[in-house]
Amino acid sequence: MTYNKYLLLAVNTIRLFVDAFTVMIHKNDIKILTELLDLEDIKVISHRLDAGIGIILQTESKKLDATCPNCGTKSHKLHQNHRHIIKDLPFGEKLVFLEINRRQFKCRKCKKPFSEYLDFVRKKRSYTKRLAHKSIQEVLENDIRSVASKGIVTTEEIERMLKDASEELPNLKPLNLKRLGLDEIALIKGKGN
Ligand SMILES: [Zn+2]
Repeated sequence: MTYNKYLLLAVNTIRLFVDAFTVMIHKNDIKILTELLDLEDIKVISHRLDAGIGIILQTESKKLDATCPNCGTKSHKLHQNHRHIIKDLPFGEKLVFLEINRRQFKCRKCKKPFSEYLDFVRKKRSYTKRLAHKSIQEVLENDIRSVASKGIVTTEEIERMLKDASEELPNLKPLNLKRLGLDEIALIKGKGN
């Protein structure tokens, strides 16, 4: 074996070790991030940190099927992927964004596609349920403007969260909500004009 060939072999061997090590570290990162995210049936598949934006986690459902809301039949037949970005609870001072995939499955019984139900985010919302709950809690403890000023959620999003919450929680006293929430929004909107 010539010296050059020997060198090439050595370099390639080292490269293989480095690659294996990188994959190992990456797998551990993913496992830890999935544990930290702590959303049922959801795993993190990649992550990146953008200094200007925050932490972006690409996520995926661990489930391979979904139940048709129309007839209750389980379907494995993927129709389309619908990826979008939503906000989640911040991690320290970093904003956290989740790239989620609300898959469409095709029901073999109804012969129609349907969107899967995701437990942690309502349909057509740009934030997780737990971010909504946390923001509402903060609003009720403080006021909408101070919560919005933190730059995580906007006053419009808080308004939407409060409306959703009042539908979800019929026991929540409407008087309280009016006093602490909607009046405050009207005040802010009035000032904005
Ligand atoms: Zn169906």
